[in-house]
Amino acid sequence: TDSSRHVYRIASIPGDGIGIEVTEAALEVLKAAVQKSGKYTIEATHIPWGTAFYKETGSYLPDDFRSTLKSYDAILFGAVGAPDVPDHISLWELLLKMRGPMQLYANVRPIRCFTKPRLDAEPAHLDWLLVRENSEGEYSGHGGRSHVDQNWEVATDTNVYTRHGIRRIMKFAFEAASKRPRKHLTVVSKSNALRYGLVLWDEVAKETAKDFPDVTWDKELVDAMTIRMVQKPWTIDTVVGTNLHIDILSDLAAALAGSIGIAPSANLDPERQNPSLFEPVHGSAFDIMGKGIANPIGAIWAAANMLEWLGEQESADAILNAIAHVCNEKKVTADMGGDLNTKQAAAAICEQLLK
Ligand code: ATP
Ligand code: MG
Repeated sequence: TDSSRHVYRIASIPGDGIGIEVTEAALEVLKAAVQKSGKYTIEATHIPWGTAFYKETGSYLPDDFRSTLKSYDAILFGAVGAPDVPDHISLWELLLKMRGPMQLYANVRPIRCFTKPRLDAEPAHLDWLLVRENSEGEYSGHGGRSHVDQNWEVATDTNVYTRHGIRRIMKFAFEAASKRPRKHLTVVSKSNALRYGLVLWDEVAKETAKDFPDVTWDKELVDAMTIRMVQKPWTIDTVVGTNLHIDILSDLAAALAGSIGIAPSANLDPERQNPSLFEPVHGSAFDIMGKGIANPIGAIWAAANMLEWLGEQESADAILNAIAHVCNEKKVTADMGGDLNTKQAAAAICEQLLK
């Protein structure tokens, strides 16, 4: 074949449960995107990290995982989690262990309503970009349990915020907002109740705003934000929040847009020192695994975001257009009111892409 084509090396880590099913679907769509473009190729290498690997080797990740991943341009990830391993082990030992050392501090979660709105209050086109701080805050991992043998056992999780950590995510979020048509950022907080970390959060937001005079911005407490997302979604464009806050808000956003099954998530190292990781927002969902009914759109949209990050904007746009098309034709899985299985839903997107 044509040796002048650029080759992207992708680490494919399907993981567990429906992660395996939707990653396979995403790889099919990437193949179609390569075929359509003709300008680049993708070399995907399968990496078997997940619960089966854990049961075999005793750990979710090999010790040298960082150097293994360094040789790839990007990581396409499915999901992790199994019925017989507690979530706080599988999630921490695989996904969260990769995020920290690789400085994947910006977690970007676009969400869009491709079809008819589900609520009367909703505008025809819900189109948001949620930015999640991905390296500190509530998920810092600091804390512990004590007084175990007494009848007043204590457990703590320490929220850790640094000026550096807040500054870099604010800069990222303002920059992201400035590249969107509406140029508006909402900074989510809870600085009325969390008096140190989130007060610093608000202060750094205000400072950072000065560097982005073209972006309008406002501040919303996280509880009020849930109301605003449901009742005044048209007032929202780009949103930045802490690790926990955006975790919760992005599930709500996905449900408002139609299904948790469509939402993608990009774990970015904006400095590009490490490969960034692209995944659907949803988890391994063992209640539906093996049934072939998982919605592949979240994983496919994640793959489109990966192409965008790698510089293939045209392919990314084409995949998004194909997704919008199949959604409006109801060529989708049952969670979105269609009657296709995972493979058929992915095939419909490939077909539309190659038209
Ligand atoms: P995690 O522990 O990572 O949150 P989970 O296994 O609890 O993962 P979620 O992703 O939280 O699963 O999903 C909650 C429920 O939504 C699932 O149990 C499943 O019924 C449904 N769901 C999730 N993803 C999809 C999908 N891609 N297609 C259809 N339904 C889905
Ligand atoms: Mg869940």
